[in-house]
Amino acid sequence: MTRAIVVGGGVAGPVAAMALQRAGIEATVHEAHAGPAGDVGAWLGVQVNGLDALRAIDAERAVAEVGFPTPVIEFRSWTGKVLGALPTSGPGGDVGLSMRRSDLYRAIHAEALRRGVTVRYGSRLVDARSTDSAVTAVFADGTVESADLLVGADGVRSAVRALVDPGGAAPRFVPVLNTAGYSEHVLPGAEVGRLTMVFGRRSFAGYLAAPSGGTWWFANPPLTREPSAGEVAATSDAEWRARLHDLHRGDRSPVLSLVEATPGPLRGWTTYDVPTARRWSAGRMVLIGDAAHATSPAAGQGSSLAVEDAVVLARCLRDLPLPTALQAYEGLRRQRAERVVAQGFRTSSAKSPPAVGRVVRDLLMPVVLRRRDPQAWVRAHSVDWDAPAVPA
Ligand SMILES: Cc1cc2nc3c(=O)[nH]c(=O)nc-3n(C[C@H](O)[C@H](O)[C@H](O)COP(=O)(O)OP(=O)(O)OC[C@H]3O[C@@H](n4cnc5c(N)ncnc54)[C@H](O)[C@@H]3O)c2cc1C
Repeated sequence: MTRAIVVGGGVAGPVAAMALQRAGIEATVHEAHAGPAGDVGAWLGVQVNGLDALRAIDAERAVAEVGFPTPVIEFRSWTGKVLGALPTSGPGGDVGLSMRRSDLYRAIHAEALRRGVTVRYGSRLVDARSTDSAVTAVFADGTVESADLLVGADGVRSAVRALVDPGGAAPRFVPVLNTAGYSEHVLPGAEVGRLTMVFGRRSFAGYLAAPSGGTWWFANPPLTREPSAGEVAATSDAEWRARLHDLHRGDRSPVLSLVEATPGPLRGWTTYDVPTARRWSAGRMVLIGDAAHATSPAAGQGSSLAVEDAVVLARCLRDLPLPTALQAYEGLRRQRAERVVAQGFRTSSAKSPPAVGRVVRDLLMPVVLRRRDPQAWVRAHSVDWDAPAVPA
């Protein structure tokens, strides 16, 4: 195996290309858009397990430079009462980072380019065929390319997944909307890097004081019915503000003051996950990241799992022939990823329960969080790059 085509220049794609390069496989990344993803007001966490996987290929520093440590996640009820707190640290003592989504993408792309990875922007895969000896990819601009392997890192609406698993289930609607922003408001006494999650009476939200001043926030308005295509994107700034005002009015939290001090336009997006794909590979095509197992943002793990996949896949391809390498990769990844997706869906669905459920949660949560950290097993994952991969 000497050459791979990587479809998708999000998080998983460029990291896979860097990891494959370390494994002695030359990879070209094809990204449908004209550049790395822009900023839609979204920020995210790269967790210690994701940082560990980046460290395995010496790419952690590039990401760490655009983020800031976020050691604690605190949970509050709508009354302002603290329900508990969880650390973001892993077994090694380092902590999760928060960053703008666009900064993460830019940092990963810059690092891949610095290492000599070729990234073709504006290159959208439309078809691919796998034979015993090669895989051939067809792009919307008419370009045709062949390689030994095609890696589908093309996100939740993956075209490669449709080729690997024709007739597979469509992504599942997660019953919350997302909106987020960067507020100029500085909360008195706020601790930089302490992420506060608020179980509002009608909507879930979170906020985080940033080191540069100001406060980053997000909100998850519940939405039980799946909106029609374009409906959420067409929601205006004024409509988002009015909706957030209705949902958070009366909660004892700073969410509304943060929204007010956020330059517009506010935008929002729907969430879909992929609880299970029947196949992760077919012939010389394989899925990684959201294409294989998109998770709701509630898990806080989308980018971290994507990075883990990329590095583990490269390690398997370094040490094992096809198709054993792809089976070994799936064997190492599927159960873990699907468990995180299931946990994220449950968390998203439980964000705005009715009144009785709220009371029970507010009573139980402090007890549960004192006894058990439900995310500890996710963060404890580590990739041993030097250990030889073995067949599944
Ligand atoms: C708007 C938005 C906001 C998000 N906010 C958060 C958040 O706040 N917190 C969080 O944890 N996660 C968030 N996520 C999810 C997180 O970004 C993903 O879990 C993570 O990036 C997974 O990486 P990936 O590379 O698998 O997929 P992606 O990052 O989605 O990358 C896939 C890439 O493939 C490209 N592509 C798609 N089809 C083709 C094709 N046919 N040919 C070529 N290229 C193609 C896309 O343009 C994209 O660049 C968000 C995602 C989106 C889209």
